[in-house]
Amino acid sequence: MTAPAPLAGVIGDPIGHSKSPRLHGHWLAQLGVPGHYIPIHVRPDHLVNALDGLRALGFAGVNVTIPHKEQVLAHADQVTDAARSIGAANTLTFDAAGQLHADNTDAYGFLQNLRDHDPDLSCAKGPVAILGAGGASRAVIWALLDAGCPELRLANRTEDRAQALARRFGPRVKVVPVDRPDQLWSDASLAVNATSLGMATTQAVPFDLSGLPDTALATDLIYTPLDTAFLQAARAKGCATVDGLGMLLHQAVPGFERWFGQRPQVTDALRQVVLAP
Ligand code: NAP
Repeated sequence: MTAPAPLAGVIGDPIGHSKSPRLHGHWLAQLGVPGHYIPIHVRPDHLVNALDGLRALGFAGVNVTIPHKEQVLAHADQVTDAARSIGAANTLTFDAAGQLHADNTDAYGFLQNLRDHDPDLSCAKGPVAILGAGGASRAVIWALLDAGCPELRLANRTEDRAQALARRFGPRVKVVPVDRPDQLWSDASLAVNATSLGMATTQAVPFDLSGLPDTALATDLIYTPLDTAFLQAARAKGCATVDGLGMLLHQAVPGFERWFGQRPQVTDALRQVVLAP
């Protein structure tokens, strides 16, 4: 008797847009791993039953996408520091005893994407300016604080949300009003767009970039489109830029390794597979 092929997938509502099946499918085929990764539509009112069902069916684990990333924490037996601090999980693993382990690998993916362009993360050694105070911003803040960043400046359309994150993450996080780009960009070594503004190609840059130093690295979390208005404006200022696709690809690595037993690589071929229409 051979062991059954490992099963994993992604749960969300909706789920049809997820790039994860394509991404994990590429790695399964490339590495010759006898496993399966499937998209699973789970409505919020079915979340608990769905997790029980996945456990009963012998799933090794699942990725979690909108709207379940926060809710799954309440149903996990173990929660990593990253997931607890960020307040959301994107990677669930069932252990041999059926215990549910919740992790957040978005922070890891964010830093690995930067490391592809800046191996020493020197961009995180100076002040970092972050636009946005939603769920993705929490992962970026946690990642950069963990990487030793001395000062994070946070600007958000709804300033109260930025203030709440400053209280949550402590004194290295400072809130800057959106009408003070001078305070935001001064001496910044890294500029991050963690807003969802730019997902429509017609949308403008979220904030005035005129004071952004040309020595800063600029990165956007949005990967559709790949070359956002924010990245274009930063390049026009002379900045090097990093698009958001690498974050998506890197955040998937730890889950694949846990569920299927091999550590996959983020390559140009994978980028092309995920970008294909
Ligand atoms: P979210 O929780 O809904 O937060 C959205 C953020 O964008 C908030 O700060 C919001 O400001 C701001 N915003 C939205 N519309 C705006 C506008 N017209 N003007 C100014 N600010 C605006 O979303 P999220 O989960 O943080 O995701 C943010 C982006 O990151 C999304 O595009 C998502 O696809 C992307 N993302 C990428 C990856 C990756 O792997 N590359 C991973 C996670 C997320 P208010 O607070 O004022 O509403």
